[in-house]
Amino acid sequence: WKHGYKANLKAYEILYNNGIALDAVEFGINVTELDAEVRTVGYGGYTDDKGKVTLDACIMDHRGNAGSVVYLQDIKNPISVARKIMENSNHVMLAGAGAQRFALKNGFKKEDILYSKSKKDWEQWIQDKSKLKNLINEDNHDTITMLVLDNKGNLAGGSSTSGLRYKSHGRVGDSPIIGSGVFVDNAIGAAGATGQGEEIMKTVGSFLIIELLK
Ligand code: ASP
Repeated sequence: WKHGYKANLKAYEILYNNGIALDAVEFGINVTELDAEVRTVGYGGYTDDKGKVTLDACIMDHRGNAGSVVYLQDIKNPISVARKIMENSNHVMLAGAGAQRFALKNGFKKEDILYSKSKKDWEQWIQDKSKLKNLINEDNHDTITMLVLDNKGNLAGGSSTSGLRYKSHGRVGDSPIIGSGVFVDNAIGAAGATGQGEEIMKTVGSFLIIELLK
């Protein structure tokens, strides 16, 4: 995907300066999350069927630590919230209002993340839903997943998405699920997924890839 290029440039800058894989993943993905023109990740993401933007993300480091956030609203950088959950809580996954509460307590700002184009697209979609089924196709899927190997030989991975365009309110896909959207085993490798989340979840796709690689 084109947005991956800018995210990779940021990640590369971090690695070039001897930074760690985890920072490269987080700050690389942040670039895409903040780019409103990327309509499937972070700020600017498409809405669900109720016109709400709900974000999913996860991150995993070389030690097998993991953090994940699902159904996050009104916060622009879900990958950073996922990292905070990994580093500043005893949990792996936080959802919805509780995830937002955690984010606000940890210094994130509540912002309107509904981009004008996403609002307009949703308004058009509700006029004639038959024109677009909420299934993945070439134009509407674009989750960002980053896998990074740093100079110390450590791996990290992360994923961030607004999920399926016009998904059912409350739907969560593979992207924030450790083992489905991302999996890292420092001794073996790292895998990440994009595409129809329902299919990836049923195979725990990223974990399966690493197991087979093993
Ligand atoms: N995997 C994402 C999801 O199902 C969608 C995507 O990759 O574009 O939410």
